[in-house]
Amino acid sequence: MTFWIDTHCHLDAAELAPDAPAVRARATARGVAHCVLPAVAVGNFDAVRQLAQDAGDSYALGIHPLYVAQAADADLARLDAELWRYRADPHLVAVGEIGLDFFVPELCQGPLRERQEYFYVEQLKLARKHDLPVLLHVRRSADRLLKGLRAHASGKPWRGIAHAFNGSEQQAHAFIALGLKLGFGGAFTYERALQLRRLAAALPIEALVLETDAPDMPPRWLYQGAVERAAGVPQGRNEPAELPRIGAELATLRGLSAQELARATTRNALLALPRLASSIAVPARVPDAI
Ligand SMILES: [Zn+2]
Repeated sequence: MTFWIDTHCHLDAAELAPDAPAVRARATARGVAHCVLPAVAVGNFDAVRQLAQDAGDSYALGIHPLYVAQAADADLARLDAELWRYRADPHLVAVGEIGLDFFVPELCQGPLRERQEYFYVEQLKLARKHDLPVLLHVRRSADRLLKGLRAHASGKPWRGIAHAFNGSEQQAHAFIALGLKLGFGGAFTYERALQLRRLAAALPIEALVLETDAPDMPPRWLYQGAVERAAGVPQGRNEPAELPRIGAELATLRGLSAQELARATTRNALLALPRLASSIAVPARVPDAI
């Protein structure tokens, strides 16, 4: 069976947590062999670790830019302590989800913007200190994120993923040049996402990984427009089981078979997050060239 990795899903989110085992089982049944669960705040560190350990999946620890307003400075010390405490846990694969969000107007200026930048930079330093990759949240913030990565590289390439990438071609190449992979998910499945579809089709295959960002970012086939919603049709729930269909759409855009795309993106995920190798059951089938 084709082997897929969902490099970014929030199985602990309120929409999915109540039936997380069933959600995970549906994904497995469709060939999603592994999920990476990022944290968003110290309050969900235990939840992502537990879910990942229970299912043989992976997790990341970090403070998401949309949560820095509620975060205390002490949360950075707690993150540092947890990264140290779980350093030998093979399920812990990255620092994330960290980054900058300049989409939400209140967060773009004044003290909250400064706080976002402070948490981002401090967490980059922690990733370097603990020698872990990063899972980056990028929303209208690619240039600032790149600046931080360059300033804190300490002479080594970065590893990790710019998740839900939605920037320009130039920004895409800048992330790639620094050592990062780019996460593609439901957003490119919309016909109107012309720029993103063009990038998904044309960027080097070595740069791409797949993600659902479940329960966010529903792919086209789960999204109900205004007319359907008014008629009472509920939005479909995005979950990791959607990943193979997202992957198949990307394969079509690139003129590859789903199997070839799965193999390439799995190999890329292992390069972005090297610790995945220890929890993935069939690594021997992964590395062949497409
Ligand atoms: Zn996320």
